Amino acid sequence: MTERHTILVVDDEEAIRDSCRQVLTKTGHECHTAVDGIEGLHLAHQLDPDVVLLDLMMPGIDGLEVLEQIMKTHPNTVCIVITGYATIESAVDAMKRGAFDFLPKPFTPDELRLIVTRGLEQRRLLQETAALREEKERMQQYFITIVAHELRSPLLLVKQYLDLVVGRKMGTVDDTAMEMLSGAHGTLEGLLEIIADWLKLARINAGDIAGGMDEVEIGAILTKVVSEMQPFADNGGITVRLEPCRGACRVNAHAESLLVVFRNLVSNAIKYNRPEGSVIIAGESVDGTVRIDVRDTGIGIPKDDVPFIFEDFFRVKSSATAEIPGTGLGLSIVQKIIEGHHGSIDVKSQRGEGTVFSIFLPVLREGPEKEDPVD
Ligand code: ADP
Repeated sequence: MTERHTILVVDDEEAIRDSCRQVLTKTGHECHTAVDGIEGLHLAHQLDPDVVLLDLMMPGIDGLEVLEQIMKTHPNTVCIVITGYATIESAVDAMKRGAFDFLPKPFTPDELRLIVTRGLEQRRLLQETAALREEKERMQQYFITIVAHELRSPLLLVKQYLDLVVGRKMGTVDDTAMEMLSGAHGTLEGLLEIIADWLKLARINAGDIAGGMDEVEIGAILTKVVSEMQPFADNGGITVRLEPCRGACRVNAHAESLLVVFRNLVSNAIKYNRPEGSVIIAGESVDGTVRIDVRDTGIGIPKDDVPFIFEDFFRVKSSATAEIPGTGLGLSIVQKIIEGHHGSIDVKSQRGEGTVFSIFLPVLREGPEKEDPVD
């Protein structure tokens, strides 16, 4: 026996309404009818039907407008347009606007039953997809919480104890034990770094940067990153130079995420540099795009590895990189954040000579000038 579904037929022709009602009720469905678009919209809101059969050529509010409103308010309702052969073009137009299919007049009871059955199958698939998407988001959020609280927090606690012992704040420890504890401390730091990077990535994937966009001055972000990275650069004898951004370097962005982008790029430019090398950061705004280059004089990236550097966990394997710590997640995070800002990233590298990462972001459009209020 057919499962009972709610079908709404919107048509100004009485004969069509009656025959549809007869066929669909006989099939076991609950069928409602409306004589025009206004009544159709009213019933659609009231009944939340599974399928709407909608005539495109009706007096008053036209079928396409009814279709658009139903699609907007009931995205899981499947709309099938009923059309005469003369209006096939508008049926195609309706499908472009989200109708599932069209049923040309005149049609037989079998044709009606078949298209409604297919429409109901489509509705089931839409509902299943929405439920799976919701489940995926819930699992992702659950996993983030587990990693952040159940994994990261106890590891941080263990690291804090080891900080004290390795920092010789808890009295003397013999040399062999100290060597082992220092090794454990280093491994734990690496693990916590991977967890922190993975959490950043998972939060970006969960759409965390979508909200919180604001007007951001690129120069201010770069100044902050350079001052944070300075001690790290001094340690390796690397000179970092920030050039003033040329032009209107303002973008619509999530400031905290942009800090993550440039911290990663500048930290890599220092990490993968040569002793006494340099890093130059320069930005300029041209033709509606802000371009920021982070250029280093470091070890460069082998040509064959360049296509992979934005993949999760990818790290170049060579004698030059073997001792440099990292997770292989930094550039993947950078790329996702930049894509989330409708921007792009490019890399040019010469092995043994250096690398330039270029970020492109759309310049913030100036809004219309505010007029003085009229007294
Ligand atoms: P990691 O944590 O390993 O630094 P990233 O995702 O930031 O991870 O970078 C991926 C790999 O790309 C690095 O392991 C390194 O081999 C290479 N790389 C990134 N930036 C540079 C750079 N400025 N110069 C040379 N190699 C780089």
